[in-house]
Amino acid sequence: MKKYLNRFGHLCFLSFAFLLCTPLIAQKKYTDKDIASMKQKLATSVAGHAKDVQVMVDQIFSFGELGFQEFETSTYLTNVLAKNGFAIEKNISNVPTAWMAKWGSGSPVIALGSDIDCIPKASQKPGVAYKDPIVEGAPGHGEGHNSGQAVIIYAAIAMKEMMEKEHLPGTIVIWPGVAEELVGTKAWYVRDGYFKNIDACIFTHVSGDFGSNYGDNGGNGLVSARFDFNGEAAHAAGAPWRGKSALDGVELMDIGWNFKREHLKPTNRSHYVVIDGGDQPNVVPSKASVWYYFRERTYEDIKANYESGIKIAEGAALMSGTTVTHQILGTAWPGHFNKPLAEAMYANIKKVGMPTWDDKDIQMAKAVQVLVEAPKKDMEGKPIDGLKTTIDSLKGSVAFSWGGGSDDIADISWAVPTIVLRYPANIPGTKGHHWADAIAMATPIAHKGSLVGAEATAMTLLDCFTNPKLIEEAKAYYTNVQTKEVKYIPFISATDPPAIYLNKEIMQKYREAMKPFYYQPEKYGTYLEQLEISYPTVKKP
Ligand SMILES: [Zn+2]
Repeated sequence: MKKYLNRFGHLCFLSFAFLLCTPLIAQKKYTDKDIASMKQKLATSVAGHAKDVQVMVDQIFSFGELGFQEFETSTYLTNVLAKNGFAIEKNISNVPTAWMAKWGSGSPVIALGSDIDCIPKASQKPGVAYKDPIVEGAPGHGEGHNSGQAVIIYAAIAMKEMMEKEHLPGTIVIWPGVAEELVGTKAWYVRDGYFKNIDACIFTHVSGDFGSNYGDNGGNGLVSARFDFNGEAAHAAGAPWRGKSALDGVELMDIGWNFKREHLKPTNRSHYVVIDGGDQPNVVPSKASVWYYFRERTYEDIKANYESGIKIAEGAALMSGTTVTHQILGTAWPGHFNKPLAEAMYANIKKVGMPTWDDKDIQMAKAVQVLVEAPKKDMEGKPIDGLKTTIDSLKGSVAFSWGGGSDDIADISWAVPTIVLRYPANIPGTKGHHWADAIAMATPIAHKGSLVGAEATAMTLLDCFTNPKLIEEAKAYYTNVQTKEVKYIPFISATDPPAIYLNKEIMQKYREAMKPFYYQPEKYGTYLEQLEISYPTVKKP
């Protein structure tokens, strides 16, 4: 409130008219009936952007950019936002593809976020239920991060129009999850203060479900780190006794870690890839590197495993006569999401309901489920058969979890009250990070699912901007429940840089071959039309 008065006091000098009308605006109370009718108008307004949603989803799908290399996506989205009156700060946290877009003034300040990066080797034609890459070996949206920005941007545009009409005070902030697959930026945004003056954050993520949750969702947090071993080259046949193999260091570290696994909690998930194993067999590798993700359920367990990893690396260096250094590349805390905000979102999800799937959508979904040999039931025992027709339930903190994936939205959830909307734009039962997860992502399944996601997001924005009690309750939950005993301690230091060089070479290798397949919305109704795909194509011709 103090902040608002200061801002108001300052603005008084600027405009007499503003001085006269602002207190009246700020005090305006809406009845339940007003809100219901405004939500109806918002839903109609978002539905009026159905074509724009389809274009944005298809456009980003066609760019298929890996984490930290989302240059086309970033330029395209910031242009759309600028055209719609958002002021844009680029290069936030020194990440060239990141930005923060702002519209409006005063409190509350509500942030909307969604990821934009894709998956290596997941290039795939949409609407085709067999492997058929657009560009062989290239990256592709094999998870569905191409859809989330359309959800938040068209929700924001509808809300902005209503705020202008109703003279509602408040600020909308839109930001991208750059390099989410590398959990590479969100902890950096928090460290660098980009969420300091934000009251609440609504994040959206593609799913087969339509739902939200609060509390501890059962996911893992993680540290992603690379270990660089340095040895001594030598002729591998002529003088191997004079060489010290950095690759031996890497292999011994991996062996050590795999022995360690026996003594880790069952909630651990850890995995690695060798990113440099030397150049050719007849040269003892003087350099070799391995990249680890250490995942666990709590900060303490993630930290303990990361520290074990460092010790094992040092042991491997000792055994191989090499030296080793390590560097943090990404991090995510285990998430905790806001109860009052999730309840508000869930009430809106109920109002919006599932999209109307037609026979073609269902045929597509079933064909993909056969293709990926989807399990008959999900982890909760619910059947997997085509597309979901009912919304998910609102879930609270899990009593126990075996652990699983991670998302660095968690770090933002520890900075400001945050929720995640899961909107139904992909097919249930897929593998998550796989080319088959791209099949639905530029089809009517993704378009319809993103549109209902945008409607629920717009309605929740309205709640945030018209109901100060909601923001108060969200903050009370954050202070009195979420952070009462758990305090956020970042894994990154004040100086760790974001690993913006990652994926550069892969993207350089494929970008030129991908360019002829960028979606041209001025020429083609949909990306399916541009690729001459009849939807759905369930069998190889
Ligand atoms: Zn994701």
